[in-house]
Amino acid sequence: MSPKRALITGGAGFIGAHLCARLLQEHYEVWCVDNLLTGRLENITPLLSNPRFHWIQHDVIEPLLLPAPLDYVLHFASPASPVDYLKYPIETLRVGALGTYNMLELARQKAAVFMLASTSEVYGDPEVNPQPESYWGHVNPIGPRSCYDEAKRYAEALTMAYHRRYKLHVKIARIFNTYGPLMRPDDGRVVSNFCWQALRNEPLTIYGDGSQTRSFCYIDDLIEGLYRLLLSDETGPINLGNPEEVTISTLAQEIIKLADSRSSVVFKPLPPDDPKVRRPDIRRAKERLGWEPKIPRQEGLRRTLEYFRSLLGKA
Ligand code: NAD
Ligand code: UDP
Repeated sequence: MSPKRALITGGAGFIGAHLCARLLQEHYEVWCVDNLLTGRLENITPLLSNPRFHWIQHDVIEPLLLPAPLDYVLHFASPASPVDYLKYPIETLRVGALGTYNMLELARQKAAVFMLASTSEVYGDPEVNPQPESYWGHVNPIGPRSCYDEAKRYAEALTMAYHRRYKLHVKIARIFNTYGPLMRPDDGRVVSNFCWQALRNEPLTIYGDGSQTRSFCYIDDLIEGLYRLLLSDETGPINLGNPEEVTISTLAQEIIKLADSRSSVVFKPLPPDDPKVRRPDIRRAKERLGWEPKIPRQEGLRRTLEYFRSLLGKA
């Protein structure tokens, strides 16, 4: 039997690179498409020697011509860290709008299944906690985070329009805060910042008073959820995340302890529209995919610290 063929946009990014590796492990032929805006070639260097892996440097806001047939198009290209999308707001809106359009068109041409990497940010600063998929969200359409939130909301709407108009097989994954090896130490996200600061015995920068919450999913758990969603008959949207909620202050203390660090903490201003709480309701993923995260935060953070420690020598 010939291998399944998948194209992954954003494949040189944090999640995309793990997804490429997993699909290769499942014997897929993989096309990894990325313009390296926030991703890194190093993330996929170990994959380049695999004959079933094809690297294409390309900006998906332009149409992509690919002669090969495809079974799956997975659209993960987009800046994802608040620091990145605040730096690249127009690029973020364009990849969410034009990039999603181009990849939906590619999926339609190839009669492929389309998967969209959406986000918990579609719920904005939520007024219900935890957030079920039925919640429509509380998003500031003109605030600094709107370039990301509204791009993803548009991308979801476009995906559903293709599903309704063309009967395209689509899947919308609403991904909650995910962390692990291959994150950039300077991506500005809380786990990368805290790990990098703790390992260098620098103060951990807590924004606001640290009472805001997030729920952190280890990358291997997320990839398992995405893979199950891909193989399922589900359209979604479906929340994928770890429902274990923690305050940012507690996270800082956990990382200081796990890193055996001498760091203290410093308080910095809270960025505008920073969600006060976030926690996925994962009942749908449990029922329909038989999925739930398995890796406790302690263990996930330990593995992530190990990865960042390996980069310290190179920094
Ligand atoms: P990342 O920044 O590491 O990866 C994104 C990748 O997309 C990068 O490699 C970047 O170079 C690429 N890219 C951006 N614009 C592009 C374009 N126009 N053409 C081609 N490539 C482009 O971020 P990530 O954390 O791996 O996120 C991947 C996806 O998952 C994103 O769509 C993000 O919105 C979504 N997501 C991530 C999280 C998380 O916690 N990591 C949470 C929710 C949703
Ligand atoms: N945060 C923080 N210190 C940092 C980076 C982030 O206190 O150095 C906070 C941020 O204000 C937010 C939470 O940690 O409340 C998660 O931020 P992140 O940028 O990782 O992702 P978000 O969930 O906001 O998209």
